[in-house]
Amino acid sequence: MAKKKLSARAARREGDRTSAKLTRDIERLALLEPGHTPGRAIPLDAASQVEVAARSIPCPRCRGAFRVEDHTAETLDGVRLRVAKVACSACGAGRSLYFRLGAASLN
Ligand SMILES: [Zn+2]
Repeated sequence: MAKKKLSARAARREGDRTSAKLTRDIERLALLEPGHTPGRAIPLDAASQVEVAARSIPCPRCRGAFRVEDHTAETLDGVRLRVAKVACSACGAGRSLYFRLGAASLN
């Protein structure tokens, strides 16, 4: 039996709404995970670890692997951070990941 409750366009609209909400939820949850906000920067000993650490974080949307396109040094609220610009190699979603250097020593 064919289910024909929604026209193709209505079904697509419904799907868009659902996936938009899902994306919002995923993004909100991602912000609670380490590395996704400056306040949750992941401690590292050296800038050379940024790429490896960023690649070990799964994409919140699809669990794919990020590739690091660039990383920059930034100071936020007096804390030295490395901000990695990454893009998911699977779904293409781009984001910034945050790392804190020299966390082991107090300086
Ligand atoms: Zn992804």
